[in-house]
Amino acid sequence: MFTSFLIKYAEIGIKGRNRHLFEDALVHQIKYALKKCEGKFLIHKTQGRIHVDAQTEFDFDEVVEHLQLVFGISGICPVVGVEDEGFEKLCDTVVSYIAEVYPDRNRTFKVNARRARKDYPKDSMEINMDLGEVILNAYPEMTVDVHEPDIMLNVEIREKIYIYSEIIPGPGGMPVGTGGKAMLLLSGGIDSPVAGYMIAKRGVKIDAVYFHAPPYTSDRAKQKVVELARIVSRYTGPIYLHVINFTDIQLYIHEKCPHEELTIIMRRYMMRIAEHLAKETECLGLITGESIGQVASQTMNSLIATNEVCELPVYRPLIGFDKQEIVEVSEKIGTFETSILPYEDCCTIFVAKHPVTKPNVNVIRRHEHNLDEKIDELVKTALETDELIIVE
Ligand code: ATP
Ligand code: MG
Repeated sequence: MFTSFLIKYAEIGIKGRNRHLFEDALVHQIKYALKKCEGKFLIHKTQGRIHVDAQTEFDFDEVVEHLQLVFGISGICPVVGVEDEGFEKLCDTVVSYIAEVYPDRNRTFKVNARRARKDYPKDSMEINMDLGEVILNAYPEMTVDVHEPDIMLNVEIREKIYIYSEIIPGPGGMPVGTGGKAMLLLSGGIDSPVAGYMIAKRGVKIDAVYFHAPPYTSDRAKQKVVELARIVSRYTGPIYLHVINFTDIQLYIHEKCPHEELTIIMRRYMMRIAEHLAKETECLGLITGESIGQVASQTMNSLIATNEVCELPVYRPLIGFDKQEIVEVSEKIGTFETSILPYEDCCTIFVAKHPVTKPNVNVIRRHEHNLDEKIDELVKTALETDELIIVE
């Protein structure tokens, strides 16, 4: 029955001169999302709205499911479009629309007509009244409520006539691409994919970096990160995933620095390398999945130590989340099952029994000094052997 969708988007951030950027980005993301659906679609903007018109047969549920991945969409209205073949024909269409969409008709309704074409023989008030009467006659169990109707029946008179009344919720947020780009430190855990999702929801395009340490971490662990990036890319569009071989850096830190500071110093090198990649690729910030106090390396003191090596802002959208809250989001976005696969993400030799929870930055700096020029060489090599995987 439905032939197209009217896309509703939140008004915030789209007023004034930037509106067309917002809309163009939204159209772009909708096209990307629908590429994976059966059928052909025409996506166009008219009069401050976005329409998705099906030009072939399509699977309704599949299309809705994919539109629900597009940030910036607040509502998806399935629309019936019919040719204008006179008012009586329109009445018949509306009556059968209600029959089909509302099997249970013990409800209140209101007709909300809009006439974009002034040569239509009735004005909107007349259409509201006359269609209302036709509905009441066809379905005596229905009643009119002009203030809080259960069913708001929208009828738009344009070249064709469009009828819609349902609003399926979208994910909200801003279209990816309207907010610049950031570099996500993506591990195989539960947290970082959620962190990337949350920042992307604010309109930010995502690149990612994964530090792997073969043979201490397996190829399966890497494949798991690629898979996580793939799931996140359903929302964000293609992700450029940089895989950095971190083994030699890790071994060298292990050799030269106190074991209880290993994690912090390793994290500092991850941040430095991530920032280097970020600057090379025009990213405006870094993203991590850290949350205060979750582990020793995420206490407020530890965060001072990891933060101070970066100039770019580090976005930590999960900073005030409990683990359970993070798990809930990861289940909702579909990363949880992959995140909990048991492939090791760090070898135990690199994990101290009693890591510092209150690192002193001056002490850390002094110990890093032991790494002298050789660490710069290792970082350079790691960056030179960056493996880029485009995930979509
Ligand atoms: P996650 O669930 O995201 O793995 P975590 O609770 O295991 O997080 P840590 O291992 O302390 O936390 O890592 C903190 C953050 O550092 C991660 O959320 C991620 O952003 C980044 N990170 C950690 N390890 C890696 C890695 N191997 N590659 C890329 N980023 C990493
Ligand atoms: Mg982890």
